[in-house]
Amino acid sequence: MAHERCEQCGSQTPPWDIIHCGSGDGHHELLCTVCFNARIAESTGFADFENVRLDPIRMIDCQGESHQFHFQLRFLGDRIALDAFELRGEIRAGYRFQLIGEAEDDVFVLLGRLVEKMRRALSVRHIDFRERRIIDSTVRGHIEWDASHAGRLPLVVVDGKEVSWDDLGQMLMSMEGWQFRLDIADPSEEL
Ligand SMILES: [Zn+2]
Repeated sequence: MAHERCEQCGSQTPPWDIIHCGSGDGHHELLCTVCFNARIAESTGFADFENVRLDPIRMIDCQGESHQFHFQLRFLGDRIALDAFELRGEIRAGYRFQLIGEAEDDVFVLLGRLVEKMRRALSVRHIDFRERRIIDSTVRGHIEWDASHAGRLPLVVVDGKEVSWDDLGQMLMSMEGWQFRLDIADPSEEL
């Protein structure tokens, strides 16, 4: 996927690092994350925000598989959103995590907390993909857009891997007659 030009600093920016920024007068701008944060900091008069780029890190899951995580730090005026995600090409795919902090929080303390959360998630496996079955009685993941169903059916990501709604349904059928509970949570919550 093509990189886009940040309209503030002019740098070619991958799609995962660009923010579509609308202003009150209906004007629409593409900004890289760093320029977006500088804009918010300027408009809110918050000079203490640490506008840093965080280097990607590599983590190993409980199956011995390696995952590279990229970070996006967004200053939202009164809060900070810190996202960690994997990429397929230039598109976010696989595991994703989020942590919300206060504007005054130290970015590196938040990063430490996020990495702990990621470590906890990577230490658990929910699906045996070879045998196509749910390992225990709980499945955690997140909901994504399934382009092959034009948004009519969800695509879920479990253990950092995409599972179609159909495949998930098939796995559930080995537990026919059992009960289930479906809990939906904000991206920053930990289930
Ligand atoms: Zn920029």
